Amino acid sequence: MELAPSNSNQQHENNNSNKVQGLHCSVKNYEWGKPCRDSLVAKLFSMNSGSLQSSQLDEDQPYAELWMGSHVSGPSFIVFDGSQQRVTLKSWLLENPNVLGPKVVEKWGGDLPFLFKVLSVDKALSIQAHPDKELARTLHKLHPDVYKDGNHKPEMALAVTEFEALCGFVTLKELKAVLTVPEVVELVVAENVNSVLQITDEDGEEKVKPILKSLFTDIMSAGKERVAGAVDRLRSRLHKESQVRQLTEKEQLVLRLEKQYPSDVGVIAAFFLNHVKLAPGEALFLGANEPHAYICGECIECMATSDNVVRAGLTPKHRDVQTLCSMLTYKQGSPEILRGVPINQYVNKYIPPFEEFEIDCCILPQGEKVVFPAVPGPSIFLVTVGEGMMTTESPKGYPITEGHVLFVAANTEITVSSAPQLHLFRTGVNSRFFQDS
Ligand SMILES: [Zn+2]
Repeated sequence: MELAPSNSNQQHENNNSNKVQGLHCSVKNYEWGKPCRDSLVAKLFSMNSGSLQSSQLDEDQPYAELWMGSHVSGPSFIVFDGSQQRVTLKSWLLENPNVLGPKVVEKWGGDLPFLFKVLSVDKALSIQAHPDKELARTLHKLHPDVYKDGNHKPEMALAVTEFEALCGFVTLKELKAVLTVPEVVELVVAENVNSVLQITDEDGEEKVKPILKSLFTDIMSAGKERVAGAVDRLRSRLHKESQVRQLTEKEQLVLRLEKQYPSDVGVIAAFFLNHVKLAPGEALFLGANEPHAYICGECIECMATSDNVVRAGLTPKHRDVQTLCSMLTYKQGSPEILRGVPINQYVNKYIPPFEEFEIDCCILPQGEKVVFPAVPGPSIFLVTVGEGMMTTESPKGYPITEGHVLFVAANTEITVSSAPQLHLFRTGVNSRFFQDS
């Protein structure tokens, strides 16, 4: 990949050539990822790493996540043209804090506040939630092996293909229906079921929360054998009933999950959560302590720089049921879906309610040009389709093509032009952060 025009340490002294840097990014082969041949992550990763020998794709591996950023668990490296030198983005930022802009340095120190990812999901991810800052600090202190950093991790998923997820708890009305599912009822305390049935819509969400918490905790902490029995009975009953009636969408989903994670408590827990289907271009954001599980599809994801996940179902990984059940907000109802705000003809901006990040999606038809105005913080650009040129105020342009990832310094205006059509995503610090501060 020939991106950065500079090829030596001189750039450390030369501010101008600091402005755009090509990045080589890390990949994660989690077992829920799409098989190599179908995975957008695999495709982008192989184009991103170009001729690097270490980056040969392994056809037998799933390719789940591409990480673009400075997190130590999946670092990105600065590309120095014609050099074997590999410097992590993190260490380069420490040497060149000016590229982050003073407001970002003041707030977050000499590091990127966000982590940018691409996800190719073949099989459901664990039912999880991310701690708020206070809980993250406590968990990190208590179990640094499991909770690797002390940061919170709000996140946003922007669908590239149709993208399915479980997210947040269902409404009271739906919850009452869930409590008619025999395999759910057998795992919970009967008194909790009765309490829910007595609540009316007028009582409001606050009254539901403590009982919902007890019910969900009953399910999640039920013994392995009881759960396996319930999941088994659920599967046979639904198979039988599917002969004589159309199963609901949730029931069909539950059968899919059961195939992926037989005997797992997450199959039953799915009844309690909203099943969300995002069309390409729609986004879902998740605040602290909201339960969710991505089910399938491909998305662009952005989050605060953290890898803190509390898991409790649909996973072979470490489960922390107690922490999960006690941390959740138990907020009910469908999540808000973002469709982006058009900034101009070609760029849509997605602004979640978190100060660390926002995402721009740019779809540029053949032979067009678009300007990304200078912003006071750093950006990362990812090209997912097509090719073109990226230019700053300096006359030298950067040819860009599918799989290229570029770090752009604060206060740099970027012009992008397309050869054939070009799709790119930009993430940066939330524009509201600069407005408010
Ligand atoms: Zn998550």
